[in-house]
Amino acid sequence: KLHNTILELKGNIRVFCRVRPLLPEDSPGADGKDVSYPTTTEALGRGIDLTQNGQKYSFTFDKVFMPDSTQEDVFVEISQLVQSALDGYKVCIFAYGQTGSGKTYTMMGRPGNPEQKGLIPRSLEQIFQTRQSLQSQGWKYEMQVSMLEIYNETIRDLLSTKDSSRIEYGSNGKQYTIKHDANGNTHVSDLTVVDVCSSREVSFLLDQASHSRSVGKTQMNEQSSRSHFVFTLRISGVNENTEQQVQGVLNLIDLAGSERLSKSGSTGDRLRETQAINKSLSSLSDVIFSLAKKEDHVPFRNSKLTYLLQPCLGGDSKTLMFVNISPDHSSLGESLCSLRFASRVN
Ligand code: ADP
Ligand code: MG
Repeated sequence: KLHNTILELKGNIRVFCRVRPLLPEDSPGADGKDVSYPTTTEALGRGIDLTQNGQKYSFTFDKVFMPDSTQEDVFVEISQLVQSALDGYKVCIFAYGQTGSGKTYTMMGRPGNPEQKGLIPRSLEQIFQTRQSLQSQGWKYEMQVSMLEIYNETIRDLLSTKDSSRIEYGSNGKQYTIKHDANGNTHVSDLTVVDVCSSREVSFLLDQASHSRSVGKTQMNEQSSRSHFVFTLRISGVNENTEQQVQGVLNLIDLAGSERLSKSGSTGDRLRETQAINKSLSSLSDVIFSLAKKEDHVPFRNSKLTYLLQPCLGGDSKTLMFVNISPDHSSLGESLCSLRFASRVN
């Protein structure tokens, strides 16, 4: 591959843990003391300990971001990975965690606050800047964006201007079918794909998508935390001097909240929703786990999400999972579940 992107990945899968700061809305008296960080050298910056009922649980990841880590601190650690999409790699970056743990903050950041921009806008700025600087070496890139949501195993196009596909969910909604061609490219029938030339154009599309998501949200009862958001940037580059060609993909995925609802309490739509989320998150973990173990059979087809991302998860593609953690005492149980999930895929 090109431009010397060097990433020493074990099986090309890495897991970063990010703990958000305590917030005023966290439970009263919360002090974040249930979460601590090993200070020994080998786990420094990579370890996290959770204490529940006097019992300490320790986890190690490729990197642990403490509550005071800024968006810039986080981006510095992933910028090479983002860059590798321009070199023709297929990249997936996921944010996993319970609702309120900081997934959307990590991915998108706070709108209107440049310092708190998340890794989607930062990645795009970097990609378009690099594209500019590679022009002098003869590189010409074409870029295309699509954005979709997977809710209850149904795909929803977030860039469609047709109202029907914007607000319809479930079995009466449009059925987008996923196909992979021989070149490892994914086609989702009828999905809107937009050619983009600048990060400003992409910001505009992100606004459009978030509007489209919130239209669904009011009608559909906070579905945005119950659905997976998938941002895809397709990159094809050709060097006019050397005739080299590259095809990279950058997928940035804000996953549905991983919290388990109490089984007795949920019925009807809510139950179906929860089952769909559990199924797709556990399929994702199964897929990543079997890729990491280099198993022959990888169960991509068990969920829409893994099937959609199939070409971008196997082979020499690169995957990064953020596991987002809330330091709040009342989240301890969910935090432990998230850390266990993430250490399984690590
Ligand atoms: P999720 O998407 O996982 O449901 P959010 O990203 O919406 O969670 O985060 C929940 C709240 O915490 C939001 O108000 C968000 O702005 C805030 N938050 C999350 N992570 C951080 C962080 N690292 N620093 C400051 N505020 C954060
Ligand atoms: Mg969110």
